[in-house]
Amino acid sequence: MEKCKSFAKSSTYRPNVNFLARAADAPEGIDVVQAETIVAVLVDAPRHANLQHTLSYRSQRPLAPGILVRVPFGRREVAGLVWPSDAPASPIAPAEMRDIAEVCDGMPPLNASWCALLEFAASYYQRSTGEIALAALPPELRRLGQAALSDRVRRLHKAFAAEAARAPAGSATPEPEPPLTESQAAAMTAIEVALAAASPETILLHGVTGSGKTEVYLRTAQAVLARGRQALVLVPEINLTPQLVERFTRRFAGRRIVALHSGLTPAQRLRSWLAAQLGLADLVLGTRLAIFAGLPRLGLIVVDEEHDASYKQQEGARYSARDLAVWRGRREGALVVLGSATPSLETWQRADTGHYRRLSLPERVGAAAWPRVRLVDMGRLAKATVGLGSGTVRGMPPGLAPQIIDALRERGASGEQSLVFLNRRGYAPVLQCGDCGWMSGCPHCSAWRVFHKKDRTLRCHHCAFTEPVPRACPDCGNPDIAPVGRGTERLEEQLAALLPEARIARIDADTTRAKGALEAQLGAVHAGDVDILVGTQMVAKGHDFRRIGLVAAINPDTSLFSSDFRAPERLFALLMQAAGRAGRDAAAAHPSEMWVQTWHPLHPLYQALGRHDYAAFAASQLKERESAGLPPYSHLAVLRAEAKTAEAARAFLAAAAEVGRSLDDAADVMIYAPVPLDVARVADVERMQMLVESASRPRLQAMLHAWLPHLDALHATRGEGAPRVLRWAIDVDPLTI
Ligand SMILES: [Zn+2]
Ligand SMILES: [Zn+2]
Repeated sequence: MEKCKSFAKSSTYRPNVNFLARAADAPEGIDVVQAETIVAVLVDAPRHANLQHTLSYRSQRPLAPGILVRVPFGRREVAGLVWPSDAPASPIAPAEMRDIAEVCDGMPPLNASWCALLEFAASYYQRSTGEIALAALPPELRRLGQAALSDRVRRLHKAFAAEAARAPAGSATPEPEPPLTESQAAAMTAIEVALAAASPETILLHGVTGSGKTEVYLRTAQAVLARGRQALVLVPEINLTPQLVERFTRRFAGRRIVALHSGLTPAQRLRSWLAAQLGLADLVLGTRLAIFAGLPRLGLIVVDEEHDASYKQQEGARYSARDLAVWRGRREGALVVLGSATPSLETWQRADTGHYRRLSLPERVGAAAWPRVRLVDMGRLAKATVGLGSGTVRGMPPGLAPQIIDALRERGASGEQSLVFLNRRGYAPVLQCGDCGWMSGCPHCSAWRVFHKKDRTLRCHHCAFTEPVPRACPDCGNPDIAPVGRGTERLEEQLAALLPEARIARIDADTTRAKGALEAQLGAVHAGDVDILVGTQMVAKGHDFRRIGLVAAINPDTSLFSSDFRAPERLFALLMQAAGRAGRDAAAAHPSEMWVQTWHPLHPLYQALGRHDYAAFAASQLKERESAGLPPYSHLAVLRAEAKTAEAARAFLAAAAEVGRSLDDAADVMIYAPVPLDVARVADVERMQMLVESASRPRLQAMLHAWLPHLDALHATRGEGAPRVLRWAIDVDPLTI
């Protein structure tokens, strides 16, 4: 065993060889041994499964790392990956070692860079490499045996060859390129310089909505493809960015583009993934999961809307595709372009400190003016004078400012569209009895159930528990129970009552549940069949509505005073994005406007919004973060625990904290007291969390690595008085706190 260890350590990527001599004439890069080889294989098992990093299997021939295999695992046969390993795998006696069931080498092995990316992601996000690496493969691929895989690969080669024969490269006529603005041209010059470098600087492309970031992505991708390399373009949600996808498809007519996201059928996803991994696809357009695509010729990663929360996986391995993109680009010498109108403060600060190169597109293309921002001070409006529909609860703040109603009417009269935006779906967030004070709580969560008027239900948006609305108050029998507050459904109803001549449509999670519903509704907006579009943040993102002249944000104040320190950053990004929906058509008759209904018109956030001044907003936020010791000036992880009782969850976290503080690696790491989540109970499960913080990322990482085995042990303890939790998880660089 000793010999094996030193042998294996001499090279990074080599199957574990046992006691057998290496053939003298081995082809370069591949270890060939004369008889049986022992290979290290990753299987999909959580780290808590108490398994070693890799498992040892016997193979009849040496296998390169990155080859897909099928192996016996317990009583099942599962997919595995031969893994580069410089440490001996689990110490199994040769007699007990099992044979690899099947080698699926119909596809070239995943390369060393890919293995390194997955290894890094697992280590950084504190998961097992097997779990994260196998999950990065399309589910269909994990089911296939050698014959089926070889067959798929053959068919794919054939299909791409046939396509190439039908439309040879250069035969299709891609759409003509629009002329570049001065700042686009300057950005392209800098990007060309970066592309020529062996290890290009990461680029932050900061451009307001409508400033033509997409054109820069397109030209950059073109330059990369011309060098014979592959481009990966990440978008937050494919469904919300159909125009971007369309523009890439048009511009790269004749090039081989594939999409990679969770909305594909298993067969489509496998096809796209294989096309990327085989090097057949030149350009991959995808969501966060595409960061793990095998791309043997990777030359560019674009992360569009890099600040978007959807780049962070919220369960399982909680990775950030944006952060992994930066790491992967650096490792593989690929250019990384992070684009946004409102970059994350982490990214902005890295540009401030010179780690990233900032390129700015300050003006909108085609001289389209930025909408004028108008703040409506709700405090100054007399409560009784505002046009609210029936069913108003006494003492509630006025609902819609008359100025906004008038502005909507005027826009409609001149044939312009408006977007009214409220980030809460349903009719009303809660029903209340005016006599006894009963409110429509969820019996399974610490949250109110939302009143949906269309089907007269009370629905919990956390656990989905749904019941018909009671005829009378369940506590006192009073038949007069009334909605309190307002969601998009009620807003739509109010607008219809106030503006009977307007054609109103609503887009939110409730109206777009059916497949194709979102596309149909967006189609109606684009066709001009809608005067006023009511919606949640779904409509604020991505869509290129050319005829919208007015955007109104109704009561966005709730985020101003949230306990989550990132809430203002998210609100500012959302409002800037919503504002960007207006006035994209420079030929519009009236200057475009964004109205904001607020109780805090003097808040610095709204003042910065009024000046469209992201830089000022970012500077003030960063100053606050620095003085409070918050990211990006510190590094965070959160340990979350779920249990049947709050006491159990708290006890687990308290025990974990005690172990954590006693670790040698805990120096310079602060462990805070456990606190319940904002919505503490969901579906009868209590949820608590505990913040872990350090000014040094490596120190935090070292502490987490040392801590994890103890957490496993703590969770496994089933003794008398031991805290019993259902689940626990670590979230590194959490987005929500
Ligand atoms: Zn009552
Ligand atoms: Zn619930």
